[in-house]
Amino acid sequence: MTNTDKKDKIIPQVMKWGGCWKHINLTNTCTIDNGLTILHLFYIENEQFRYLISSHQSEALNTLSTVMTLMSEHNYDQAKLVWAKLSPNVSSNLFGDEADFMMSHLDKLWKSKIISTCTRPSCSDSFIEYREEYGFRAQTADSIDDIQQLVDKWMHKTVSCASCVSDTEDNQGIGEVCNSVRKERRQIVEKSPVLVVRVYEHVLHDRLLPGNLMRSKQIKINDDVFKLAGITMYKEGHFCAIVFVDGVMYWYDGLVGKLSCLPSDYSSLYFPTHAIFCQIK
Ligand SMILES: [Zn+2]
Repeated sequence: MTNTDKKDKIIPQVMKWGGCWKHINLTNTCTIDNGLTILHLFYIENEQFRYLISSHQSEALNTLSTVMTLMSEHNYDQAKLVWAKLSPNVSSNLFGDEADFMMSHLDKLWKSKIISTCTRPSCSDSFIEYREEYGFRAQTADSIDDIQQLVDKWMHKTVSCASCVSDTEDNQGIGEVCNSVRKERRQIVEKSPVLVVRVYEHVLHDRLLPGNLMRSKQIKINDDVFKLAGITMYKEGHFCAIVFVDGVMYWYDGLVGKLSCLPSDYSSLYFPTHAIFCQIK
């Protein structure tokens, strides 16, 4: 591997924006460059993650495994094209949102359902099992301290029961809303070693302070532990990313094509979009 020495640290080589493979010119690749670079920097450091990626039975992670190998061989342009082909009807122009070409493929590997139970025994809907749904869609209207809290809210929450009470004498109370506490627990049906958390809306609506994004260096879902691998950042039609090398933060911009220190004004110039976590246990 070709490395650039910077002081005493060895900084890995990274891919440049665009590319060309077998006469196919790739353009607007920042929608995939950041996600692939974040994952690859984690991949080369973490053996357990490499194993989890290679043993996952899904088209997206089989492809990712191939792409990671190509990136390790510095075949970046081929790697991008292999990944881009996961999106149907994609041309060599990847203009759009990183959600379309990168995050959606990783997100749909998660499948879960909610088991909801009412604490009132006479409730007409004491037990509800909701249908399975794809993706990690953690929503909250409240302020959250960090990403772990968002994940926890996705896994467990309590709501006020809107069902009717069923045990009223003489039927006078029929139609009475239960209003008791319902406990909603999420059961993971299918999981992935990559968890993408879309942070954009939470930051935009001041529910999550940008300064608190880094508080969750690790998150737990049941017994699985995921480590923060990077955060994608957006500014006026271009995506960049905060990445980690040996736990140290670097700035990745495909147009620059090498890792650098974080710009001092990045938090005012760029808006965080996705946090990418990779499983380590
Ligand atoms: Zn109820």
